[in-house]
Amino acid sequence: MNPKKSLQNLAKQAIKGKRVFLRADLNVPIQRGVIKDDERIIASLPTIQYLTSCGAKVILSSHLGRPHGQVVEALRLNPIAERLSSYLKIPIQKADSCVGPEIEEKVSQLKEGDVLLLENIRFYSEESENDPEFAKKLADLADIYVQDAFGTSHRNHASTAGIAHYLPAYAGLLMMKELDCFDSLLTQPKHPFVAIIGGAKISTKIGVIKKLLPIVDVVIIGGAMAFTFLKAKGYEIGKSLVDNDKLEEARDILNAVDKARVRFILPLDQVVVPSFDQADDKQIVDITQISADKMGVDIGPKTVKEIGHALTGAKTIFWNGPMGAFEVDAYSYGTVQVAKLLAKSDSITVVGGGDSISAIKLSKLEDQMTHLSTGGGASLAILSGQSLPGIAILEEK
Ligand code: ADP
Ligand code: MG
Repeated sequence: MNPKKSLQNLAKQAIKGKRVFLRADLNVPIQRGVIKDDERIIASLPTIQYLTSCGAKVILSSHLGRPHGQVVEALRLNPIAERLSSYLKIPIQKADSCVGPEIEEKVSQLKEGDVLLLENIRFYSEESENDPEFAKKLADLADIYVQDAFGTSHRNHASTAGIAHYLPAYAGLLMMKELDCFDSLLTQPKHPFVAIIGGAKISTKIGVIKKLLPIVDVVIIGGAMAFTFLKAKGYEIGKSLVDNDKLEEARDILNAVDKARVRFILPLDQVVVPSFDQADDKQIVDITQISADKMGVDIGPKTVKEIGHALTGAKTIFWNGPMGAFEVDAYSYGTVQVAKLLAKSDSITVVGGGDSISAIKLSKLEDQMTHLSTGGGASLAILSGQSLPGIAILEEK
């Protein structure tokens, strides 16, 4: 179990009547005022409901998009307030700012079980700067701080970290679920443990691979990332996406793999095209047969079969990063097949990463996974052993 203190470790009486500053991650995709996917809102409901049922006065805060410290009309939280209200079946008061006399007035009027949603916290440049005075103003609104914004917990911002210098800080229910999941992956995984790592840039994943090597039994590499390893091994990769600055680190990992006695699986074949937008000319070739004028955009059937073998009997599977450029239908085969393999497996299956999760949803397999993390960057940061500012500030049991 992770060592952080949960909101549920507090006596309900200690919450009743208290002003609770709840930082959630309600950063949902919105197009022309319409919410396109409200998974993050749904994931945040249990903590809000727990607090209101305990009789807290909830001051709810989130960011939305990247307004860079300015008021951007399209990034106001009004559609989110409406959606929350319809799920929670209570009116949600929505404020147009986050601090100042009007907010203090609104907070003083809150009754037990009320929810006040503050405006997009990133309308204030002080948020991302983690300005101590701003953090203090936020803290002054409340008696208790609850952190439920797992997806933003790798940010050292005023509402995710700074505020906790002035208030007792507890993990929300979603945060606890995420922390428990990653804690058990890192400290007591069931073996065989297989990690599947794909995606575009190796630089964002090197830390995770290094941290996982002593823990896992098998590492499977897919996506564009594989080409950096393949090039480091001397293969011709043609025009495939590659991180030339990371060849040395890729070699280091390959050496570490030998020492750690981990099975390291690189693609055996690839779907190749003359250029990214020439899907009609796609071919499947052996990994040794990529010509100089082609680029690899997806893993091929041999690789999928190999991954299937490697996953047989697995007890824990962690997946981050698609196997190819799956957004293009013609290049989605490998990623969809891997999603299906995970869905079929009896293993504990944990998926982190924004694009990997979209791929799972595209295949409508989200119910078949043990845990879909709500944080891409945050889950990678935890798995690479970093201390996350928004988690470090939480009280321990
Ligand atoms: P996640 O969000 O799950 O962590 P990443 O952001 O690391 O995943 O990587 C996802 C991106 O990688 C996708 O946009 C996908 O198109 C791209 N990608 C994967 N394989 C390839 C490839 N072979 N060539 C080009 N792009 C690729
Ligand atoms: Mg991504």
